[in-house]
Amino acid sequence: MTAKSTKPAYTRLSVSSDPENELAAVVSSAQELLRWEEALGGAGFPVAEAAPPLQAPMGGPGARGVDQDTQSRLQVLADEAAECARCELSRGRTKSAFARGTPDTDLVFVGEGPGFHEDQQGLPFVGRAGQLLDRMIAAMGYGRDGVYICNVVKCRPPDNRTPLPIETAACAHFLVPQLELVQPKAIVALGRCAAENLGVVPPAGRWRGIWGEWRGVPVMPTYHPAFLLRSPQFKKPVWEDLREVLRLLNREVPKR
Ligand code: URA
Repeated sequence: MTAKSTKPAYTRLSVSSDPENELAAVVSSAQELLRWEEALGGAGFPVAEAAPPLQAPMGGPGARGVDQDTQSRLQVLADEAAECARCELSRGRTKSAFARGTPDTDLVFVGEGPGFHEDQQGLPFVGRAGQLLDRMIAAMGYGRDGVYICNVVKCRPPDNRTPLPIETAACAHFLVPQLELVQPKAIVALGRCAAENLGVVPPAGRWRGIWGEWRGVPVMPTYHPAFLLRSPQFKKPVWEDLREVLRLLNREVPKR
């Protein structure tokens, strides 16, 4: 496969006083942007040349081996979350969405909270945003189930609103031991809510793309895939953040 440039092929529009020229410039710029998106694998994230198997790579790179005790403690937490009534979110719940993927990994993604599909299936990130997240994970060279994925809150907030502080505080009862049991080498915080709850949003200024730390674990805060579905122009900075994560984990950026 030939290496393609990840540099945007599109250029800034030149301002023109001639409406016809201006329209032509807009069309040409849009076509260039589309070509660039296609060069990045259509989804805005490079398609890895040799995609790893879709199943959890137990014992693969990044895996440390997770003992039975850790697995059972995670299962106890998941069972408790399924019955939890610590906050009002439990009242609207079909199923709690505790986690998906493998705890036998070096990389954890933390999102905000389940949406409609996650509430129905009892798994995080299985809707449209989840499909984009899967492409981001594949672009990093991991199998879909080779990472661990969870949310700040385990039950769906009404109308997919951002969880309230009282709800995130109640659900820290699950998130904190969950992350401590998985012991990742890096966490990606998907969106501002996750970044805030992991304590990596500075009081002022930019938060995306700036390393922080949660209980000694490096955390990379980046934009949420649902936001990227609405604003695909931000896929490029997100990909840069994910490359930073690969660098920290001493993993090669997969060739396309
Ligand atoms: N958005 C999230 O933050 N988490 C999910 O599980 C799904 C969508």
